Amino acid sequence: MTGEPTPLVLCVEDEPQIRRFLRIALTNNGYSLIEAASGEEGLAQVAASHPHLVILDLGLPDMDGLEVTRRLREWTQTPIIILSVRGHERDKIAVLDAGADDYLIKPFGMGELLARMRAALRRSAASTKDEVDSIFQMGNIRVDMPHRQVFVNDKAVHLTPIEYKLLGTLIKHAGKVLTHHQLLKEVWGDTYADESHYLRVYMSQLRRKLEENPARPQHFLTEAGVGYRLVVGDSSPESQ
Ligand code: CA
Repeated sequence: MTGEPTPLVLCVEDEPQIRRFLRIALTNNGYSLIEAASGEEGLAQVAASHPHLVILDLGLPDMDGLEVTRRLREWTQTPIIILSVRGHERDKIAVLDAGADDYLIKPFGMGELLARMRAALRRSAASTKDEVDSIFQMGNIRVDMPHRQVFVNDKAVHLTPIEYKLLGTLIKHAGKVLTHHQLLKEVWGDTYADESHYLRVYMSQLRRKLEENPARPQHFLTEAGVGYRLVVGDSSPESQ
């Protein structure tokens, strides 16, 4: 990151041990950190310091992370990564629908958090520049956006209009968890927001046409019970 300003991260978390863990790990990895122990304090910090990214605990003493997310999204698109405890599927979906970018389940690995942070920061840098690469490359898959052409290993692959729209939506939000609801609304429209079987069908078609091994997808990942995520490069903890 030579020449780039140090990214400023706000951590909103009431547990001192987790704040301490994040403080050590993030500063060691070249981030500047500010901290808040409650929702109100977090909202005030975002307004005062304009962090590049917010790490937000769902369970806070004064208001929950969902409320904090809603209030932030009234005026800022700063990426938000949610920390939550296992098994609260409904909470995760609600907070992603409210505009959070990603979530991690406690306890989480630092490598995974750092990868998700890099993905969120890249996405937000690209969107503030209002810049969409005309050629999107992901492993062996290449998408020529202006010509709506898709290639796998340099061979053209035919996609139906819906398949292409689904692919384009995933590319637009690459790295981000998209809920079933968000994808259905964006690809099929408001009236289809509950038809998640459409998604299953079209996602398996995309995998069959584009993934090297559709049974073990590398890019078109399922987020169990929540939705899908397009992984381009280093968003998974296994790869650099
Ligand atoms: Ca908490």
